[in-house]
Amino acid sequence: MTVTMLSDGYLDVSFELLDGIDAARAEALLEQRGAPPLPRMNINAYVVQTADRTILIDSGAGGINGWGGRLQVALAAAGIDPLEIDTILLTHAHPDHIGGLAGPLQTPIFRNVQHLFVHEKELAFWRDDAIYSNAPDGFRPFFDVARNALNAYGEKLVPFRQESILPGIQTVPLFGHTPGHTGYLLGNGSGNGSDSLLIWGDIVHFPHIQMAQPAVTIAFDSDPAQAARIRGQLLDRMATDKLTITGMHFNSPTTGSVQRDGGAYVLNYDLWSPVI
Ligand SMILES: [Zn+2]
Repeated sequence: MTVTMLSDGYLDVSFELLDGIDAARAEALLEQRGAPPLPRMNINAYVVQTADRTILIDSGAGGINGWGGRLQVALAAAGIDPLEIDTILLTHAHPDHIGGLAGPLQTPIFRNVQHLFVHEKELAFWRDDAIYSNAPDGFRPFFDVARNALNAYGEKLVPFRQESILPGIQTVPLFGHTPGHTGYLLGNGSGNGSDSLLIWGDIVHFPHIQMAQPAVTIAFDSDPAQAARIRGQLLDRMATDKLTITGMHFNSPTTGSVQRDGGAYVLNYDLWSPVI
């Protein structure tokens, strides 16, 4: 299994989206870790090549609202033809993860995809007309982007709830950020050692901030209390298991491990891991 980490670019937000921390403290935490004190989130996607599949995990933002949009350039740089991609796995259906999947009018960008895996709860949420009509005006475009992308793949959608979806790939339910938010554990699944990698989606949006203060939530969380609880549990497990982890909003070099730091955690990025 070969995993290629691709940068779709970034998106700028505001620290005001974070709940449980003020901007000055957020900036200080970034500076402590040697990062610029900016409310800027990297956006990553991943390609996993196995003996019989070429799998894309999430798709970046596709340039929606000026966010990201570099995925096709990154694929070309990696020498991966988008038409080789036969399988897509989604962590969740927020626009910065699904925006690169389709053009206007439900036009699929990855035309040879045979299966698009998404948790059944995630699919049900974005397709629920009652939730859509009760959503605040500012949130409704999220549904429009998700529906456009999901409908573009029509009968190729594979809603799942089981743990093991493909050889060497297990789903890890991490509900809270969205109703069906899911991580993917690649490798032998033993939970330790360098031959496994957990792609944990949006467990953190600002890795250094939310590992130092796991209770900090973001306005995009569907269920902030559950998102914070799951983050705390997973960080504890990862610090014990010493698993290699990565996420859609990690900075380069993209993979790392979680280490305990008093009552909280720090992310130690792996040096020399390749990213394109
Ligand atoms: Zn995200």
